Amino acid sequence: MKPIKFCDTTLRDGEQAAGVVFSPEEKREIVRGLAKAGVEQAEIGIPAMGEEERAVIRSIVEMGLPIQLSAWNRALKEDIDASLLTGVNWVHLTIPTSDLQIKAKLHMNRQEIVSMIRRAVSYAQKFNLGVSVGFEDASRAYTPFLAELVLSLYSDGIRRFRYADTVSVLQPVTVREKIRSILGECPEDVELEVHCHNDFGMATANTLSALEAGALWASTTVTGIGERAGNASMEEVALAWKHLYGGRTGLDTIQFKELAELVSAAAGRPLPPAKPIVGTMVFTHESGIHVDGMLKNRETYQSFDPVEVGAEHRFVLGKHSGWKTVAHILRQKGVRPERELSDELMREVRLEADRNKRLIEPDELMKLLDGVRSTRTVPDLQDEE
Ligand SMILES: [Zn+2]
Repeated sequence: MKPIKFCDTTLRDGEQAAGVVFSPEEKREIVRGLAKAGVEQAEIGIPAMGEEERAVIRSIVEMGLPIQLSAWNRALKEDIDASLLTGVNWVHLTIPTSDLQIKAKLHMNRQEIVSMIRRAVSYAQKFNLGVSVGFEDASRAYTPFLAELVLSLYSDGIRRFRYADTVSVLQPVTVREKIRSILGECPEDVELEVHCHNDFGMATANTLSALEAGALWASTTVTGIGERAGNASMEEVALAWKHLYGGRTGLDTIQFKELAELVSAAAGRPLPPAKPIVGTMVFTHESGIHVDGMLKNRETYQSFDPVEVGAEHRFVLGKHSGWKTVAHILRQKGVRPERELSDELMREVRLEADRNKRLIEPDELMKLLDGVRSTRTVPDLQDEE
């Protein structure tokens, strides 16, 4: 299967998440991290927003990182002019494509939309920029109209198109049919990018389904941060593409954890502990049955090796732990597990977990062990009296 490519939109759609503001320094750090991870392209802002935004974009361009940098634009000359002031080598031009948005937002019809985007494309092409065209609200648009748009713009020299599930109405089967039907009408060198939102928790699944149907690019954000419920997360798409679809990406996945922590700290949105791939607890195991299996063979309860994303398995003590875990942790602390104390010690572990409603740290286990041992020794002393 072909390697897919990533267009990261953490600094554009990610920062559009309500209340999220990245500082200029944080933006530069994030793009540095994306380049280090091997991301092909980053959409780094909206130049039409004003000089402050343009100054940050310019400062990122000046870093000279090995990553294509793109700016987001409406299909307007003034937006493209604003992008030209930043030095980016790509512009993304967006146009509404559903009848609902065409009428409500622009009071136009489909033919006027075709003319508007072709005008904008032709203007942008004068400046020797890479140009991609985005179909806003594509998932609610008439699909044959999108194919027609692609063909018109293809004849103008455009090869890259973004299909946006702007309000998140797709599911894996419908997105596959729609992407196939568009690509079926288009020349082979058309590069389709898919941009999915997560309002029903399906952004990753829909993105993967579109890639399987022939889309080449995934538009994602680090940790899935973005408008409303967010976007497809780069980490999930990349790892699932590799392990569930047998595909390839050019990404260095070991960078993911650090990148996720950087973005979540900058966004002021802590990572949920169970966040797939990069959450703090996704390779942490408490259940006695699971730990026992994994101590025998890691493959019993893992779908991929956490080393791939710069993490490792961790066995912790809690209410559902078994003696094998306790013995494993005691050995790590240099203590020989005493089988005859196991019942009492396990009871204490469960009581402690119930009391505190959390995990038990290795040092706390040592205290519980001391407690069990002392109740054992008291009767012995009394016997001697
Ligand atoms: Zn979006």
